[in-house]
Amino acid sequence: MEKEIQPGNITDNLLNTFNYSFVETAPYGFVVPKKDKYVAVNLVDKVYQCLHCQKEIQVKYHHTGVTYFSRERFNKQKTIYEDLQMDFPTEADIEAGQEFTCRVRGFCEQCAKTALLDNDEPEQEVYNLCLELHKKDEELLSQARTTMKGAIETWLQTITESSQVMDFDLSGYDALRDLLCAVILEDTSNLTMLLTDYDEAKKRILSAAEALFEELPSTWQAYTMRPTAIYESMSDELYHEYTVAFPEKTTVPQDFFVFRLIEKARVRIFLQQPRIGSVEELLMEVGFDASWVDLLVDHVTALKK
Ligand SMILES: [Zn+2]
Repeated sequence: MEKEIQPGNITDNLLNTFNYSFVETAPYGFVVPKKDKYVAVNLVDKVYQCLHCQKEIQVKYHHTGVTYFSRERFNKQKTIYEDLQMDFPTEADIEAGQEFTCRVRGFCEQCAKTALLDNDEPEQEVYNLCLELHKKDEELLSQARTTMKGAIETWLQTITESSQVMDFDLSGYDALRDLLCAVILEDTSNLTMLLTDYDEAKKRILSAAEALFEELPSTWQAYTMRPTAIYESMSDELYHEYTVAFPEKTTVPQDFFVFRLIEKARVRIFLQQPRIGSVEELLMEVGFDASWVDLLVDHVTALKK
């Protein structure tokens, strides 16, 4: 009988608009790839190379046949290979299905901290502020979840004898959940404190980003974080089933920073998204975690022994 209070959708929208601005920005389109615009490649993996420490990260792709690169993207690959002084396969090699490695250079998570995140050029700084805000959005939820669980654990510590639970309705999941929700709502001062800190950070970041926006054109380039375990379209304009490459499920996700085009209009959508502004909204967004019921059940069961 799994039943949970549905969380709201503020968080989902924030994540979607962050990805729409900085991660996978090509819109979906149904296109049958034509030879003049696309190259069919036997793509097997991608190698990320850090410009600072030279470390290489290899991500193997889930292999299901050829992947279509837009000609533009494929030509960029040629330039990268040349920069790396590596042999680029000939057209005949590609047509014969020779295995191809997609290559990208940027900054690994460690080096990005010094090379990019401490950078005050407006192009990079606006992105850095957005990334900071994105992390604050995510932290607020995880910290609230920890705080709510903490309130339940603190309350359970006050229950040391089975006689104390005699008056509670412990008849089923809904009753147990309602009881725990009441415990959480009893004292929301810690949640208010989290929200106050978040609100201050949010205001600081938004006003700093707005001020920098004035100096920037409608599009610009900067290094942005791209998790290595997510799918990627090998066309910048569109993604569809032919252009998408999926990393193997076993890929250990790492953040790698790549140089890419950023659109002001998209970033503005991310910045102007509604964000959590009250304890009620925060509770809705976190939702109720079914594992909290286990904490209560285990505690009460132990008392009866
Ligand atoms: Zn590095």
